Amino acid sequence: ICQKLKEPIEQNVYKKTAKDLADEIRSNCDSLNGNRSNLEKHILTLLSENENFSAYLYYINHPRDHFKDFIRDEVSQYITDKFSVSVLPKMKENIKLLQQKIMKAAHESTELVQVSRDAGLWLKSFTQQLSDVLIFSEKDLSGVKHDGVKDFNLLEDVIKKELPAIISDISSRFNTKSFDEKLYYKFRPEELLIDHFCQCCWVQCPFCGATCTNTIENHPGDHTVAFHRNIGLNGWFYGGTGNWSISICTSAVTSNRSFHSNDSKKSVPWREYRNAGGIYTNWSITPDLSELPYWKWFVC
Ligand SMILES: [Zn+2]
Ligand SMILES: [Zn+2]
Repeated sequence: ICQKLKEPIEQNVYKKTAKDLADEIRSNCDSLNGNRSNLEKHILTLLSENENFSAYLYYINHPRDHFKDFIRDEVSQYITDKFSVSVLPKMKENIKLLQQKIMKAAHESTELVQVSRDAGLWLKSFTQQLSDVLIFSEKDLSGVKHDGVKDFNLLEDVIKKELPAIISDISSRFNTKSFDEKLYYKFRPEELLIDHFCQCCWVQCPFCGATCTNTIENHPGDHTVAFHRNIGLNGWFYGGTGNWSISICTSAVTSNRSFHSNDSKKSVPWREYRNAGGIYTNWSITPDLSELPYWKWFVC
């Protein structure tokens, strides 16, 4: 029984600890304790500190993947920094609670069969009580049935005796890489956080490439973003020159100038940018003359 329980115990403890850890990171980690806009501020800060142009290209062209990479790095750093003060104690606490639960299930099953003395019933009761935490079936433990168990206290005694060794074996092999080695990727702490932050709209402004900030994927209505950037970042240039455009969408839409999109042959006035059709119709770009110093610095 104890050998069959080992793998489910390990999985349960890792999953539970990953979940607890993701919750803790969401309240304690500066970059991950707010919404996606707050996270993006941290991403932009780090990009500016590193001054790595290809990292910027990746962020501009593949924002979602860049966010995912950033979250993975933050979580990995957090686990490394806080392993002994926070991650390991969580793991030990979860394993202790599970151990208590298993002992309780064994004890109550033994009480149950005192009269009927039915090994099948003992197993059924034991597996049912643990069904919400451990995934295994009566079949996994069927050996018990055939061994002709006479003394039902023996089952409980054996579990009481063997379980601590299994528990301490699992605990002793836990380290900063364990989540990656033991958990299917969607249960890992970083993937739980990626799910939280990245299930939202990722459509980019057709001019500047800034990402829509709507929190719902495939949302109805227009795409919007508070801060647009210089459209040269997305490859726009002044016609007939090789000079990239320093226009910002929000101020360009107040101007009397026009633009030529790749897919439309005609020139479209900025004030009526939606007339360019296609991807241009679904964006709401409200006039705003503010300029972010950040992108000015980047262009320089
Ligand atoms: Zn824009
Ligand atoms: Zn959107």
